[in-house]
Amino acid sequence: MPLSEFEVINRFFASHGLKRPEVTLGIGDDAALITPPSGQQLVVSTDTLIAGVHFPHETSAGDIGYKSLAVSLSDLAAMGAEPLAVTLALTLPEADESWLAEFTEQFFLLADSFNVQLIGGDTTRGALSITVQALGLLPCDQGLTRAGAQVGDLVYVTGELGDAGLALLVLQGELRLPVKDKAQVLKRLNRPTARIGAGIALRNIASAAIDISDGLVADLSHILKASDVGATLQAGKLPVSDVYRRTFDVAGDWSVALSAGDDFELCFTVPEKRQGEIERIMSGLEVRCSWIGMIEQRQGLRVLDDIGREIHTGSGYDHFR
Ligand code: ADP
Ligand code: MG
Repeated sequence: MPLSEFEVINRFFASHGLKRPEVTLGIGDDAALITPPSGQQLVVSTDTLIAGVHFPHETSAGDIGYKSLAVSLSDLAAMGAEPLAVTLALTLPEADESWLAEFTEQFFLLADSFNVQLIGGDTTRGALSITVQALGLLPCDQGLTRAGAQVGDLVYVTGELGDAGLALLVLQGELRLPVKDKAQVLKRLNRPTARIGAGIALRNIASAAIDISDGLVADLSHILKASDVGATLQAGKLPVSDVYRRTFDVAGDWSVALSAGDDFELCFTVPEKRQGEIERIMSGLEVRCSWIGMIEQRQGLRVLDDIGREIHTGSGYDHFR
């Protein structure tokens, strides 16, 4: 007998033990109740992942569970928030027990690692799609936004860019990689790192921040628009993995690192006088952080190669184009 909706909820979602003191009422009623500590703001973000759009159809249930939570936590990181709780709206073609077991194992593995409680959701039948709403906490008025970058600020990114884009090229049959390299880039696509610690450390230091979901060029451009400034980046400063270097070991094809999405690193701007401080903090967190360019008065985004020529950059992913 296939599982009923309520068996699915009770067996796979409602029975998980993690409890946060701020959650006054969790799964089981018509809605959850949250009591934020005084002096803290609630930060809310929602992301939907659709099979064939946000992850390839052949992605494992465990990777889907992990990624669906990671991308939502990444938005909290970009705001400088501490994750608190999530809701999960799950649409499934069928109530497949082994799929659900794998999905929830990896979902809760990541949730537990950030002390995040699942407080509710919805379970429906249809084409596979996962919506996670993430709730976070932030001391009042310390949130990082896309607005606030000032002329003269330095532009930084965490981690490495482009590996998730390489993974997509591999899956589309446009790139062949050695087995180990392929595994590395697929891991970056399927199990992105939410930069929560880095985001929290950026409160009161970064002038603006965003997470890179649609590609560096597209996402940094959102900061530039919101802050009413421009920027110039040095392609040679872009942090890329050894796999990336080996793959594009010519006079540098930076296009994947610049324009492919799905890396979920943070891009942020910092006043120049705080450069030493930010680099010390990130190194203390063991998060690679690279200075890639400057905020300028002149509108728009320019990317220069090693001899100062402007590189043409594509734009990022757009669901309706
Ligand atoms: P309602 O019909 O009032 O919207 P549901 O019957 O859909 O409530 O859900 C019952 C309870 O189970 C609710 O508390 C809801 O938040 C929770 N729930 C449903 N699906 C999920 C899920 N996938 N993950 C976590 N909680 C869920
Ligand atoms: Mg109800």
